Amino acid sequence: MKIGFIGLGNMGAPMAANLAQAGHKVAGFDLTASCPEGVTAAQSAEAAVAGADVVLTMLPNGAILREVAGTIIPAMAAGAVLCDCSTVDVESARAVAEQAEAAGLGALDAPVSGGVGGAGAGTLTFMVGGSDAAFATVQPLFAIMGQKAVHCGSAGAGQAAKICNNMILGATMAVTCEAFALADKLGLDRARMFDVVSTSSGYSWSMNAYCPAPGIGPQSPSDNDYRPGFAAELMLKDLRLSQIAAEAVDADTPMGARALALYTAFVEDEDGRGRDFSALLPRFSSRGRG
Ligand code: NAD
Repeated sequence: MKIGFIGLGNMGAPMAANLAQAGHKVAGFDLTASCPEGVTAAQSAEAAVAGADVVLTMLPNGAILREVAGTIIPAMAAGAVLCDCSTVDVESARAVAEQAEAAGLGALDAPVSGGVGGAGAGTLTFMVGGSDAAFATVQPLFAIMGQKAVHCGSAGAGQAAKICNNMILGATMAVTCEAFALADKLGLDRARMFDVVSTSSGYSWSMNAYCPAPGIGPQSPSDNDYRPGFAAELMLKDLRLSQIAAEAVDADTPMGARALALYTAFVEDEDGRGRDFSALLPRFSSRGRG
């Protein structure tokens, strides 16, 4: 396939490289980042998408996605599919899909889980919103960049799945960290705590696969001085998106709201920026209730 790829940052570059390595013809464009090996550098976003069967975008936020979409949609070939893999607000995803479909294009929102490691290894999970036809067109590309693509529903459903998942993750990580800090103060050994919880009803991905306590459980960012991994500011972004969406549809999400408040303080007022999101554990350990 002929592919245009806009946004070649930490995630986009390895994703584009994997598509090129699989034999697709990939033209890339980024305002600052350079093209990875195998990807042809285009002089503009319009040039990158001209004649492409599928255009992928991997951009920082919804405002930038809307701006880029406004530029590339008129330059795309009739019948091509615009597939945005960024994490953005549901409203922007739906607005861009509407604009693309009005121009005779297919459109998908396909945010990912799996981080930079998953992007490099081609093991991302895609959560996808949009039509069956557009999903079928892009599925072979999802299979190269990832291990799983779930068609979640119509436009915006991929972003909805992503923010619900990450709202669970943020709240679960926070309570796992505060439980370790409580266990410490109660004199409970962390290894025993892990042994019990990871095989009892308190288990979760945060405890079992990404344990925030160093030296316990499988290898995780806590074992690497909390270098990300999944940075606290990216968790903050996703929690903000979850609460924007919750407000828009009048959903009561008190745990998500509390997780947002915690990560906001951690990133903006404390030492969380640039650290893994599991570094809430040393934060809880260093303070009392007050
Ligand atoms: P990044 O900042 O490394 O990359 C974004 C790229 O977009 C940058 O290279 C930037 O120059 C480029 N860009 C910005 N405006 C542009 C424009 N107008 N035209 C062309 N290029 C433009 O971010 P990232 O870590 O690659 O994340 C990308 C998206 O993936 C985000 O929405 C993020 O929330 C999501 N995501 C990231 C991770 C992760 O672990 N990094 C995991 C899951 C999802």
